[in-house]
Amino acid sequence: MTANGSFVRQSAEPVDRFMRYEKLFIGGEWVVPEDGGLLESIDPSTGQPWAVAAYGGKKDIDRAVAAARAAFEGSWGRMPGHERAALMRRFADLYQKHAAELAVVESRDNGRALRESRVDVGGHHNSYHWFASLCDKQGGRTIPLDDGVHAFTSRVPLGVVGAITPWNVPLMAACWKLGPALAAGCTVVLKPAELTPVSSLELARLFEEAGFPAGVVNVVPGYGRDGAGDHLVTHPGVDKITFTGEGATAREILKRGSDTLKRFTFELGGKAPHILFADADLDQALNAATGSAWALCGQSCALGSRVLVERSVYAKVAEEFARRAAKVRVGSPLDEATHMGPQASQQQLDKTLSYIGLGRDEGARLIAGGSRIDRDGLKGGYFVEPTVFADVANDMRIAREEIFGPVAALIPFDGEDEAVALANDTSYGLTAGLWTRDIGRAHRTAARIRAGVVWVNTYRYLRWSIPYGGFKASGWERENGIEALDPYLDTRATVISTTGQFPDAYAQ
Ligand code: NAD
Repeated sequence: MTANGSFVRQSAEPVDRFMRYEKLFIGGEWVVPEDGGLLESIDPSTGQPWAVAAYGGKKDIDRAVAAARAAFEGSWGRMPGHERAALMRRFADLYQKHAAELAVVESRDNGRALRESRVDVGGHHNSYHWFASLCDKQGGRTIPLDDGVHAFTSRVPLGVVGAITPWNVPLMAACWKLGPALAAGCTVVLKPAELTPVSSLELARLFEEAGFPAGVVNVVPGYGRDGAGDHLVTHPGVDKITFTGEGATAREILKRGSDTLKRFTFELGGKAPHILFADADLDQALNAATGSAWALCGQSCALGSRVLVERSVYAKVAEEFARRAAKVRVGSPLDEATHMGPQASQQQLDKTLSYIGLGRDEGARLIAGGSRIDRDGLKGGYFVEPTVFADVANDMRIAREEIFGPVAALIPFDGEDEAVALANDTSYGLTAGLWTRDIGRAHRTAARIRAGVVWVNTYRYLRWSIPYGGFKASGWERENGIEALDPYLDTRATVISTTGQFPDAYAQ
């Protein structure tokens, strides 16, 4: 127990036993939920609860928004950029120090293989540092005008931000939102998904330790449509919602939030084309294509779930995909040997299995995997085999809809034009990849793909300094990169007459 009586974990406590996180972080204090309660967080590798965590209701969101508003209008709003930067750096250092524990918490909550969580979480401090360095670099511009008038713009923070995050990458999503929001000078109410509340409460502990003023960052786990999420979206005291999750949820949020005319950033789904031209270094391309089909057990928006393969190498690629699928070690996420953990929930497992059935019904050829894994040691967990469908047509549902499971769809093509047409024949437009040794083809093809990020001869190369976000139904605005600040800033134009003269409109 901490000094203030909260049941939030102290850093020395191990994270390998049943944990209790019974309070919310609001206004710099650990408080019991007023109209929320406690929920069980399920370990997806066993199907059993591994922690209880507090969740907030409407009154808790009201308290958090009030605290965020007070901080925005108080000390945080008045704090010079370089001092905000210093606080963010202190937080980033603490994050780095505790990254190994955070990775374990993340893996217990969502089942991601620890070897993946470690790499992901182990890099977030760089992102916080990078955004810290932008805190005092938000200058405006002067506007050339007539004599006697001076005009300039200022970039000002939007205000109170509601950050709603998904269960697949809670700490990454929080990082991508908190970094630019705090650098812009906003205050935040972070609402992690009900499936994975714990790692964000751990994050709150670090903000507290770093000495952030009360109310700058508030963490209130909660439910979506019928709970804290919706209340945040409809709240008149919230200036902006930044949301990562499903497109269907985004559409609902947009409607529900429209009365208050707040701003929105949406990071939504993807059905990324990963194009393998016959002239590629196929061994490297296969490393990327298989790795990015099954990473996070298929639960990432960026994965190359549609593998477009030039027909002359199609048979070879299909054979190699199946061979490599058999080599993937599926197991407990905390086991160092495990490549791929379980799906994050029973619901996600059911969804993936139903899409696998659909693929079979649609006439795609199953060449690897396709079943739940229920062997000794993994019983009760939401494990599924790495799965490969060959001879997929781009109009099949398994090629059009986001499955969010470890299911690769191999689609043959002939030539550059067909590759581009297939790549763009999707409602999504988040990421894409292509492999070729022909530099001209690399540029030509990349320039024709309608996606927010195009990787050439690499895949899923993510950095805090590279803008990330979607075209089409994959989202609005960008996270990461200097562009990530824009959605958290407004522009004020100030116009000053240096003469103070103003003509009387009614003099004559
Ligand atoms: P989801 O839309 O079900 O839930 C996301 C969050 O929204 C959760 O916190 C949930 O509680 C909340 N929520 C749900 N309904 C709400 C409502 N009506 N009002 C307010 N909040 C509500 O998404 P998910 O299943 O948690 O996440 C998976 C999705 O996220 C996938 O589609 C994936 O592609 C997408 N994703 C996108 C990115 C990206 O950067 N583009 C990154 C990760 C995940």
